[in-house]
Amino acid sequence: MSAEHVLIIDDSVESRRWIIDSVIRPAGYNVIEADNVVSARAILATVKPHVVILAAEIGPEGGLPLLAMREATLPVIVTTTHRSLDEVSAALSAGAFDVLIRPFEPERLASSIARALKISRAVNERDTLREQTEHQVQEFNAIYTVGKLMTGMLDVERILTLVVTAAANLTHAEEGTLMLVDPASGELYLRASHNMADATTRNLRVQVSDSLIGRVLQSRRPIMMSGSDLHKVQTWFLVRSILCVPLIAGNRVTGVLSVHNRISGHGFTEHDVHLLSTLADYAAIAIETARLYSQADRERTQLDTILRGIQDVVIVTDPNMRILLVNNAACETFNLSRKVIGQPLAEVMQVQAVRDLFDPDKLQSRAWRAEIVLPDGRTLQGQISMLHGVGYGAVMHDISRLKELDRIKSEFVSIVSHDLRTPLTTIRGFVNLLSRVGPLNPQQTEFVNRVERSMSDIVELIADLLDIGKIEAGLDWQMETVELHSLVAKTVERVRPNAEALKHTLITDITECALVQGNARRLEQVVTNLLGNAIKYTPEGGKIEVALKEDGDFLVLQVRDNGIGISIEDQHRIFDKFYRVESEAMQNIGGSGLGLSIVKAITEKHQGRVWVESELGKGSTFTMLLPRQAVSQSSPADSGSLIMTPENSE
Ligand code: ADP
Repeated sequence: MSAEHVLIIDDSVESRRWIIDSVIRPAGYNVIEADNVVSARAILATVKPHVVILAAEIGPEGGLPLLAMREATLPVIVTTTHRSLDEVSAALSAGAFDVLIRPFEPERLASSIARALKISRAVNERDTLREQTEHQVQEFNAIYTVGKLMTGMLDVERILTLVVTAAANLTHAEEGTLMLVDPASGELYLRASHNMADATTRNLRVQVSDSLIGRVLQSRRPIMMSGSDLHKVQTWFLVRSILCVPLIAGNRVTGVLSVHNRISGHGFTEHDVHLLSTLADYAAIAIETARLYSQADRERTQLDTILRGIQDVVIVTDPNMRILLVNNAACETFNLSRKVIGQPLAEVMQVQAVRDLFDPDKLQSRAWRAEIVLPDGRTLQGQISMLHGVGYGAVMHDISRLKELDRIKSEFVSIVSHDLRTPLTTIRGFVNLLSRVGPLNPQQTEFVNRVERSMSDIVELIADLLDIGKIEAGLDWQMETVELHSLVAKTVERVRPNAEALKHTLITDITECALVQGNARRLEQVVTNLLGNAIKYTPEGGKIEVALKEDGDFLVLQVRDNGIGISIEDQHRIFDKFYRVESEAMQNIGGSGLGLSIVKAITEKHQGRVWVESELGKGSTFTMLLPRQAVSQSSPADSGSLIMTPENSE
C-alpha cells in the first residue's frame, strides 16, 4: 500500500519539524505542510490527506474553524497549549478526532495517528464497497428495466434504441450504435443509435470485410480498443476508444452493438464487455421475436386470404363451442357477420343441422362427416374434426349437384328395374313351365335349373334396386311404434334354418328395450340383411351372435360372426352401392352388393348410425345405433337436416 499523507497545519516551524522528525518520518508517512489557515484551506480543497494535525492556536482566529470545512470522514488531531477542559471539549465538539496538549510525547501522537488511520482506512473501505454496490445496483436496475420494458414492447425500433442508450450510459460512453447485417448486400447498416448526429447515422453502412465492426462479425468475439491513437470505423468516422460485441441469434451473428468515445479517450473494461454482451443478447432476442412475429403475422394474413377466398364453408370454434373463425362462404351461407366471433355457436347459428354437427354430446369420435340439408334445398357435406389445442373445425362442401346426379341415376335405375321386372317374371314363369309341358332329358333339366338360379339372382337384384330407390326417395315410409326386441327375435327365428343348414351356432342376447318410432318392415330388412351376411360370409360350423340392448338414448343392435372378416381398406367401402369385396374367400358366394347400402339408408332414415369392426380371417361385428325417439327423415326439415355418420362407416 502507498504511504498515507499527513497534513500538518502549524505556524511554528520548530513544532512542524519536531513532529516530522520524531513521528512522521519514523512511521514512513508522507507529509504536507501548511503554515497558515489560508494555504491549509487551499490544500484541503485540492488534496485529500489521510490525517490532519492541526495547531489550535494558529493565526488570529485559531485553527478550529478549519474543522468545519473538512470532509466529515477526515480525522483531525488538534494540538493545543491550553490546558482548560473547555478548550478541549470545544475542539472535540467541533469534530476533532483527538486533542493533544503540548508538550506531549512523540509516542502519544504516533498512536493517535495510527488509530486515526485505522479508522480512516475502514471508512474508506466501507465507502468504496458502498460505491461499488451502488454502482452494481444501478447497472442491475438498468439491465432489469431494459429487460422488463422489452417484454411488454413489440416495437423493435424502440427496444433497440433503448438497448443502445442503456449500453452507452452503463459504460459511460459518448455514443452507441447497433448495426445489423443486411442479408441482401452482406453489409452492416445502422439500425439504432445513441447520441449520434443525424448526418452521421443517415447513411452509415460498413463493409464486413475491411472494417473494425466487420471483424467482430467475422470473429464472433468482442473487440475493445483505446489509447491515444484514433481508430477508424470509417474514413470519416474516427473514435478514440471503442467496444464492440456481436449479436448472436441461435448460431448466426446478426449484428454488432458498439459504444465509442470520440472526444475523451476514456477506455472500456472487461466488466463493460459483460454488460454490453448482456444487452446484445437482449437486442438479439428482440430482433428474433420481431422476426418471428412478422413471420407469424404474414402467415396469418396468408391463411386469412386463403380462408376468405375458398368456396367451402369453414367454421372453427374453441373447445367450448365459441366461434373463433368464420370464412366468407360461412357468412354468406348462414347469414352471419364477423361480429359472431367469440360468441357461442349455438346462439348465433340459425340452422339446426349445423348446431347438431357441433353438439359436444354427439362428438364422440375425433372426426365426423355429415350431410346438411339447408332450408334453400342445397346439401352440404360437412366434416368436423377435433383440432388439438384449438377446439373444433368444420369444413362444409356443397354437394347439391352430386346429390342431384345421384338422384337422377337412382331414378333411372329404378325405372329400368321396374320395366325389367314384368318381362322377367314372364320369362321365369315360362321356364318353370318347361318341365311340365314335356319330359326333359338330364342335360336339359340341368340347363333349366341354371336358368332358374340366374333368374332368381336377377329378380333379387331388381328387388334390391327398387327397394333402395324407394328408401332413398322416402316412399312407403310409414312410421309406427316398434318393439325392436320382438322384431329382432322374430327375424332371428326366421333365418335360423339357413344358419342351421350351414351348421352355424346362432346365439342371441336380446334384452327388452324401450319402444322406438320406426318402420317395422324396413327395420326387419336391416336385421335380415346383417344376419344374412353373417351366415353367408362365415364358413360352415361358425358362430353367430345377435345382441340387443339399451344404452342411454340409444338402442344398440350388434351382429357378430367369426367368418372371413373384412380388411380395413374394404371396411370403408362395403356400405357403398354395388361394392363387393374381391377375394378368394368370396369366390363362390353370391350377392348384389346392395344389402349393406340398404342397411345404411334405412338406418339413416331413422337418424341412426351403422358401422363395422372387423379383422380379416377372424370375423366381423356390425353395430347399429338407433335413437329411442327416432323420427322419419323422409323430407328435409325447414331448418335444415343432418345425417351424421362416424368416419369409418363412410
Ligand atoms: P352382398 O350382396 O355382396 O352381400 P352387401 O352390401 O350386403 O352385398 O355387402 C357388401 C360386401 O361386404 C359383401 O360383398 C362382402 O364382401 C362384405 N361383407 C358384408 N358382410 C360381411 C360379413 N359379415 N363378413 C364378411 N364380409 C362381409
